[in-house]
Amino acid sequence: MTKVTLITGDGIGPEIAEATRRCVDATGAALEWETAEAGIDVMARLGTPLPESTIDSVRKNGIALKAPITTPVGTGFRSINVYLRQALDLYACVRPCKSYKGVRSKYSDIDLVVVRENTEDLYAGIEFAKGADETGELIDWLNAHSKRVISKTTGISIKPISVEGTERIVRYAFDYARKMGRRKVTSVHKANIMKFTDGLWLEVSREVAKSYPEIEFEDRIVDNMCMQLIQKPELYDVIVLPNLYGDILSDLCAGLVGGLGVAPGANIGLKGAIFEATHGSAPKYAGQNKVNPTAVILSGVLMLRHLGMVSEAERLEKAVASVIAEGKYVTYDLKEDRNDPSAVGTSEMADAIISRIATG
Ligand code: NAD
Repeated sequence: MTKVTLITGDGIGPEIAEATRRCVDATGAALEWETAEAGIDVMARLGTPLPESTIDSVRKNGIALKAPITTPVGTGFRSINVYLRQALDLYACVRPCKSYKGVRSKYSDIDLVVVRENTEDLYAGIEFAKGADETGELIDWLNAHSKRVISKTTGISIKPISVEGTERIVRYAFDYARKMGRRKVTSVHKANIMKFTDGLWLEVSREVAKSYPEIEFEDRIVDNMCMQLIQKPELYDVIVLPNLYGDILSDLCAGLVGGLGVAPGANIGLKGAIFEATHGSAPKYAGQNKVNPTAVILSGVLMLRHLGMVSEAERLEKAVASVIAEGKYVTYDLKEDRNDPSAVGTSEMADAIISRIATG
């Protein structure tokens, strides 16, 4: 039995975590779940949103399936999601965006993979608040050393991008492309403006690409990439991006395949991996047995593949695809009319997937 941590999250998290656990178990995968908590509900009870026991469990097991966790905007604790990725050095965020028949979208036949750097960039958490003493010192230093004058009322976020951080994520994207039989890697940046961060990213990307001559390489400026993805998504395959652009373009690519409800993801490092959906905790739907469990279930498919349980992964993905294609036992967001009374709940959609696994 392989032991796996199940982080149940908050908001819609607990209900989709349970639906996913049942679906994964129905494949017969030899997994033992260790349930762990995190999020605002735990915060209220234990005074911390991320108990040590949860981090310990992920460290010990090396693999976790995680439901979404709320990050209050502007106040409260920093994102637990970002913290976990940094604490465990899960440097590669892999988000496949694939069209499934039956999911309404303006596009069909999309098959893209977003590989997002997870530990650096503006997400590194190096921030200086407006008015703080150290911010004043930093502003004085910057005004003395650059040609710009920054006002004292400025807040500052730092964007670190290193050679080694870039090299390992671009290498990851190429290794992924090689392993999965993909043809092209596109590196995305804004090197024309941010020469010392995105410029470095581009230079390292070009250097790494030389070691993979069988895989096509190209680069795109991020604003152009957004337009290209909307106009000609079929031109792209594996897309590697720094943290912030990766976050934004992941949602764009999720939109191409029908929305966040069907967009899975994996955060992978040398010592572990956490599998989670691209979407958040959708607090307004919490506890209503209403939302679509597909994105977390497909994250479970990625986890099974990562663990080498390939036939279990394929059976689960096939069952999900079949239930969605049939369109009968699906949640409201997968119905043509979102108010369709025949839409089923989270748990009932999981039941349909489980019976489809049984019948093949
Ligand atoms: P969200 O993804 O929770 O919701 C965006 C929209 O998508 C909403 O309309 C929501 O109802 C819908 N939606 C999301 N998941 C769905 C599902 N499974 N089925 C059907 N509809 C679904 O994004 P948000 O509202 O910007 O964020 C809510 C909270 O989640 C914030 O605190 C945010 O920081 C957090 N968040 C967490 C993660 C994570 O845990 N990895 C990721 C993104 C956002």
